[in-house]
Amino acid sequence: MALNVGPLRKVFELEREKGYADTAVIGGLDKFLRRWAAQAVASITTPRFLADFKKLHLDDARYASLNQEQRKKLIADIFAFLESTKEEKTVEKPLPGKRVTPPRRRTVAAPQATGQSLDLPVTTLHGVSTAMAAKFKKLGVETIRDLLYFFPHRHLDYSRTNYISELTEGEEQTITANVWQAQVTMLGGRRGTEAIVGDETGNVRAVWFNNPYIAKSLPTNARVVLSGRVRLFGGRYVFESPEWELLEDKELVHTGRLVPLYSLTQGLKPRQVRKLMKQVVDRFAGQVADFLPPSLRERCKLVELPQAIFQAHYPEDEAAKNNARVRLAFDELFLLQLGVLGRKHEWQESQPGNPVSVEKPMLESFIKSLPFELTPAQQKVLKELLADLEKPVAMSRLLQGEVGSGKTVVATAALLAAAASGYQGAFMAPTEILAEQHFSSVSEVLSRTASKVEEEDNLRRFSGLLSRPLTLALLIGDLSQASKQAIQQLIRDGDIDIIIGTHALIQKEVDFHKLGLVVVDEQHRFGVAQRSALRQKGFNPHVLVMTATPIPRTLALTLYGDLDLSVIDELPPGRQTIKTRWLKQAQRASAYAFLKKQVAEGRQAFIICPLVEESEAIQARAAVAEYERLSRDVFPDLKLGLIHGRLSAAEKDKVMHRFRAGELDILVSTPVVEVGIDVPNATVMLVESADRFGLSQLHQFRGRVGRGSQQSYCMLLAENPSEIGRARLDLIEKIQDGFQLAEEDLKLRGPGEFFGTRQSGLPDLRMARLSDVKLLELARAEAIRLFEQDPGLKKAEHRLLSAELARVWQPGGELT
Ligand code: ADP
Ligand code: MG
Repeated sequence: MALNVGPLRKVFELEREKGYADTAVIGGLDKFLRRWAAQAVASITTPRFLADFKKLHLDDARYASLNQEQRKKLIADIFAFLESTKEEKTVEKPLPGKRVTPPRRRTVAAPQATGQSLDLPVTTLHGVSTAMAAKFKKLGVETIRDLLYFFPHRHLDYSRTNYISELTEGEEQTITANVWQAQVTMLGGRRGTEAIVGDETGNVRAVWFNNPYIAKSLPTNARVVLSGRVRLFGGRYVFESPEWELLEDKELVHTGRLVPLYSLTQGLKPRQVRKLMKQVVDRFAGQVADFLPPSLRERCKLVELPQAIFQAHYPEDEAAKNNARVRLAFDELFLLQLGVLGRKHEWQESQPGNPVSVEKPMLESFIKSLPFELTPAQQKVLKELLADLEKPVAMSRLLQGEVGSGKTVVATAALLAAAASGYQGAFMAPTEILAEQHFSSVSEVLSRTASKVEEEDNLRRFSGLLSRPLTLALLIGDLSQASKQAIQQLIRDGDIDIIIGTHALIQKEVDFHKLGLVVVDEQHRFGVAQRSALRQKGFNPHVLVMTATPIPRTLALTLYGDLDLSVIDELPPGRQTIKTRWLKQAQRASAYAFLKKQVAEGRQAFIICPLVEESEAIQARAAVAEYERLSRDVFPDLKLGLIHGRLSAAEKDKVMHRFRAGELDILVSTPVVEVGIDVPNATVMLVESADRFGLSQLHQFRGRVGRGSQQSYCMLLAENPSEIGRARLDLIEKIQDGFQLAEEDLKLRGPGEFFGTRQSGLPDLRMARLSDVKLLELARAEAIRLFEQDPGLKKAEHRLLSAELARVWQPGGELT
């Protein structure tokens, strides 16, 4: 018998689950049963089974007219029949593929054996050519399992069928009709297809522009299903390029149901992919092993994995689709959570931390020397940090604080505490400009309590604060090889206490003598992989990651479940709301005039050049051109400076220095100033092509002004923003609060993209959404519970889970 009974079983199980309501199959079970009977009769070869099968009388099924008891009996009989045939090899027909796969011996319920076929390349499927596989590969799909997890981004609801007489304009609807005539015809000057179809209530025309081939596929008198919208044309309805499908002896794929829409590019055709997907889920979804322990699955009321995968593609109805999504989103969040918990456990248990003994009087005199008082939020966070540092377990903390909330000074205090206790501290910034700024501002605050005894380009020594001199160094990529090596040597020897730099700091050649604390600034993408690399330096330093990208608490806990969370939730007193306006091209001249007026009042301004391309060279060129244009044509009387990624560190430093000292009125810049730059006298931020930046990036730009006591302004130039660009501009005009903006940003982008989970070495989130707060909490609670019972996932019932975890957690070591 060559019947594919997997999907059949599922239908009958579903019907049983739903209380024999004749709802397992769209359109009722009868048609389905008759169809199945015809196939079965043709394929059952054993006479005994054939006789048994005929007793079921399915070729003339009247399920709809049976009462519940009778239905129950019939389904039970069918199951009994399927059971009895198990003795015969119920082997599924292998899909004919281009490559002949060696026949595999299958023992019936052996998940390992069947599971293996999920890892076969997509080319083993019937109809998948090498060319098509190459296209799939670009979408990240290589194996059959990848295909199963290649979910549609939405579904079209073609499930409601209408009679032709019931059609109305505008809505998506489906009809089943006879083809009276289909022919190639000229439509809008090009060859297309026109068909007339009819049912018992009337006739309707359907046209497909630009597609003469369909005519051949619609023979007269064929039964066809059309799904789509109709338009009124010359007083009559016309289907315009509807989805179509012949009503043959098979389940509907493109019409008459919830039809999946896949986000495709790479030249893959939607119909082709949909058909392939149907084949794949029918045949393989049932082979996916459910890795969740059954007790957990039941407690959380989640549907089984094969069912979820099936329904995520070809859902029965909205409810089934939703249940499927919930299950799959739970999986993502749960595995993520298990992974981060595992890492935290590894770090904290495998190596002891380095307790810092905090020198309170020294810190107090440092804090007293500051030109301002710490805000209560800064004080609270500093206390949390110091408490962590004193513990013999390595700190893993995320510090969130709105742009301008004063994170740097808090981090500086923590670095000082570590230095006073004999440890080295590293302060990492995302860009060289920012590293340089930190170097000069930390030097500046230190020189308020200590006296500078030595000053070289990249080195400062202070005395009077610690019992020995305190040494601060700057290490960035474009230092000369000699000075880099000199500093690296000093770091190795333990002659540098606080080392400030870019990510060059965690590259291999930097060997710390006694690294006690690492501060990572402005890096919500500082991934798990990077953090673990720090710990492999033979030491287990305390780690503080700082970000101005506020992450909703639950999400932060989920994505950074290995980090504790501190928040600076207030700005220093006296800060103002920054007036933010989105301007059109026509308002450019008045924007420039306004900027001139501000400069005349002694203020300074930033102009951010458009984001041309990822290439630094191209960006630099565009910035140079813009700088020249502005200097010559727009602001001939003002002093302009230019900064871009192609300048050497010394050149950048010089420009920043002049801007900070007030020698320049306007700083023209590529988007490199995005984070962290602090010039209190600057009051105008003008961003070109503002619609091309993300919300948090725009918020960061805006955060460069409003740092002093003067009213500040953010002007966003955007001519023809896309829909999403417009949405972002509207939001940033209205909302000042970074947290609220981040929430909105998440809604626009979805968590996966928001966090750049790929870059951070975290598994992808495809099904999980920001609004899934309850599910997030559930996943976290379950992960903690499981982790407490069986941290190594060693128990037999967790074997599948452990394998799944290993499969999704493959954080790359992307450290350069
Ligand atoms: P961010 O949190 O965005 O990194 P910074 O640390 O750069 O912010 O601080 C922004 C500005 O606020 C700096 O000029 C800093 O000196 C100043 N600042 C920090 N804390 C306070 C405070 N408590 N009162 C007044 N100004 C402060
Ligand atoms: Mg900062």
